[in-house]
Amino acid sequence: MGISRRNFLIRSAALAGAAVVGSITKVRAGQTPDSRGEGYGVLIDTTFCNGCRKCEWACNEWNKNPNQPIKAYENKSVFETYRRTHAHTFTVVNRFINPLNAEPVYVKKQCMHCQDPACVSACFVEAFTKTGRGAVIYNPDVCVGCRYCMIACPFDIPAYEYHEPVSPGVTKCTLCYDRIRRDGGLPACVEVCPTETLRFGPRKELIAVAHERIRNNLKKYVDYVYGEHEVGGTSWLYLSAVPFEEIGLRQDLGTRPIPDTGKGFMFMVKVLEIVAAWPLVFAAFHAIARLRKKNADTRVSADDKNAEEHDRKS
Ligand code: SF4
Ligand code: SF4
Repeated sequence: MGISRRNFLIRSAALAGAAVVGSITKVRAGQTPDSRGEGYGVLIDTTFCNGCRKCEWACNEWNKNPNQPIKAYENKSVFETYRRTHAHTFTVVNRFINPLNAEPVYVKKQCMHCQDPACVSACFVEAFTKTGRGAVIYNPDVCVGCRYCMIACPFDIPAYEYHEPVSPGVTKCTLCYDRIRRDGGLPACVEVCPTETLRFGPRKELIAVAHERIRNNLKKYVDYVYGEHEVGGTSWLYLSAVPFEEIGLRQDLGTRPIPDTGKGFMFMVKVLEIVAAWPLVFAAFHAIARLRKKNADTRVSADDKNAEEHDRKS
């Protein structure tokens, strides 16, 4: 997956000239050519999830990631440590403990498909696109492997194929774009989920459904839809009976899209690159100046020698 090392070097060299302050491409969700409304999303009602991990299995199966027979996913020992997504694992389910009743709470984690994604904004070769359907997708053919997307993502999602020696790329959940772009297509995890924890649909409708569930079960749910406003909104939305900070969902992200706040950060990355490069540039200037001086001195001493020779003969 991704580009060859040779292409990477060629593109890196070509882009080095363009990588100056202000050259970071800003692609905003609302500006993508096929943007229509808010796109689709998935509502995760964590109160329904039983931790069966069939969603993990279906995700690996559809994306041709390393997989095991579905029976192997009944192994609960994986819940003993917190897991994050990896280059070939686009979704994981983690177990938390409800502090009120000590019951387990299972929480699926994957790319949130932000409405205004930091990964899209951080990528200066436009390898990421927020599609009109809501999915944030990645084009390995243009990726140069800078990994700014990994730094920019507030949910630590994009993963790099460090183990791929020839053509490493960035990987993450695609919201099964190849399935949902067809009308009626569902993400593989949603299709397999036996408890209806996962519900796919237009984002606006999912938000309405989530608020209705809260209204109808005020004692059951935290009165908040996670993802409705975080970092400008996300396509994946969560309902919970437990405060979100107890189930690994960051509460410190604010409601402003990261690209609005992150521009300063990416600007600093570029400035630091340039500052870091200055000693090299200075050393190169110095070496050129010394070489020129040496050539000039050699020329002067040759001229002197010729003049002396001329004087002796005359
Ligand atoms: S969660 Fe991270 S990788 Fe996914 S769309 Fe948002 S910024 Fe991009
Ligand atoms: S398939 Fe559904 S019930 Fe099973 S772990 Fe995934 S989200 Fe939970």
